[in-house]
Amino acid sequence: MNGLMQQRQLLISDLIEHAASNHSDQEIVSHLGEGQVHRYTWSAACRRSKQVANLIQALGVTAGQRVATLAWNTHRHLELYYGVCGTGAVLTTVNPRLFAEQIIYILNHSGSTHVLFDVSLARLVAQVAPHCPHIQGFIALCEADQMPDIVVPGLACYESLMAGSSDVYTWPQFDENSASSMCYTSGTTGKPKGVLYSHRSTVLHAMSSCMADSFAISARDSILLIVPMFHVNGWGIPHSSAMAGARVILPGAQLSGEHVYSMLRDEQCTVSCGVPTVWMSLLEYAEGVDAEQRRRDIVVTRFLSGGSAAPRRIIEKFEAYFGVWLCQAWGMTETSPVVTVNTPLPRHHDLTLEERFDLQMLAGRALPGTEIEIFDDAGNRLPHDGQTTGQLKVRGHWIARAYYQHEDDAWDADDWFATGDMASLNADGYLKITDRAKDVIKSGGEWISSLDLESAALSHPAIEEAAVIGLRHSHWQERPLLIAVKRKEMDVTADEVREHMRHYVARWWLPDDVVFADSLPHTATGKLYKVPLRKQFESFRFSTDVENA
Ligand code: AMP
Repeated sequence: MNGLMQQRQLLISDLIEHAASNHSDQEIVSHLGEGQVHRYTWSAACRRSKQVANLIQALGVTAGQRVATLAWNTHRHLELYYGVCGTGAVLTTVNPRLFAEQIIYILNHSGSTHVLFDVSLARLVAQVAPHCPHIQGFIALCEADQMPDIVVPGLACYESLMAGSSDVYTWPQFDENSASSMCYTSGTTGKPKGVLYSHRSTVLHAMSSCMADSFAISARDSILLIVPMFHVNGWGIPHSSAMAGARVILPGAQLSGEHVYSMLRDEQCTVSCGVPTVWMSLLEYAEGVDAEQRRRDIVVTRFLSGGSAAPRRIIEKFEAYFGVWLCQAWGMTETSPVVTVNTPLPRHHDLTLEERFDLQMLAGRALPGTEIEIFDDAGNRLPHDGQTTGQLKVRGHWIARAYYQHEDDAWDADDWFATGDMASLNADGYLKITDRAKDVIKSGGEWISSLDLESAALSHPAIEEAAVIGLRHSHWQERPLLIAVKRKEMDVTADEVREHMRHYVARWWLPDDVVFADSLPHTATGKLYKVPLRKQFESFRFSTDVENA
């Protein structure tokens, strides 16, 4: 017997229509560089999204066709999120920090027919355009007098096209399972892989971010969206903020600690989200601000952190500087991205500060609509004892079931997607990411977590950045090597770092050697990139290795 409820499709266009109808005067603030700040409302954004819809249809873009962006977080990018997807076309947000070859690969593989780009990326566009023969038009996201001086096919000005485009448009109704947007994984090996989100998965993901034990986004929030909109749909904030009617602050390309601090202060933001590297820059700047002033300036109640593990030092400083719980979340491109969020349970009310920091080091609990589980190599489920580590698998309403035009064996018959992360789960279901599977260090048959070692090293005040890799050892198979960058004008010895780390990890985990470097390599999304480090240290021999003697 079927229920007698209406069956309406979950469509992204409904989100902006809701915001325009119910939060019409709520503001969207967009930093465009050189001190230029643009302000309008959700109702204006909705009207402009309809102009985008008319504009791209006039260009011949039809449902299912891919339209790419190379753009920072601005109101124009937000309009494309709604205007393109609302027509049934697919928005492919491309990370401009990737190598040109990867961008060319993504534009070609996705079959994008148009690229909308920020003027600051014009040189990159000119570089990739000759290698993407099927792109019919490149549209610069600017005013007519800001047009870049480049020669590419179908170069046009966004604002000129918008000026001639009507804001009268009726969003089409179609199957909620239709593709809405596509992001490519920034995998450190092999070609990027396309993850094709649907309207249904996007709306459900947005709904879950608004929940109290998730990002708790509400109409009373002002959100500084630091996470780039080209990275996993900006963690879904462009969607969840419309759903909640929240105020949104878009920082453009300026993410220095000082700029982030001033936007948080000047716009009186209540929520912000970003990766630990951005938080480190913010903390560095905040360090120079008087403590009283800091508390008056910053009224944020939720700082959300994900993309890589937040070291304990950052968590402690957020508490000390702003009196705020740095909330870790876990997810990946394949998972829309948010799957787990770290909020406390009633039993955590009486924790000491140290115990609370221990809790905050975890990546959180699964949101309703998703399931997470850890498995051994034979596919058996492992106990949730907070100790046992296994392969993290996930399934749910906003988890990919395949890559776009790319065969992959990451999925099993029960829909479990193998994330490539190693993790443990405790009895309350809190997830602890211990490593990427390929980074885990196997020493004498036991596993050592490189993330725990990095966090321990980073808790030393003289260590700016730390990477731990497993290298061959004649007795233990593998042992950890710590490669560390010292903070400016601070000194520390290898023995002092190891001594300090003893307080945080088992003695047998301590890195056999510590090497100091001037800097560490990063991926296009700002994560530590260990592949070149492994290559660089391939012939390194540990001082503890008898073969060395
Ligand atoms: P991406 O697809 O680029 O978003 O990368 C996803 C990967 O980032 C995950 O598979 C994890 O390895 C890592 N990651 C994301 N969030 C966290 C977190 N809170 N703690 C540790 N690692 C994380």
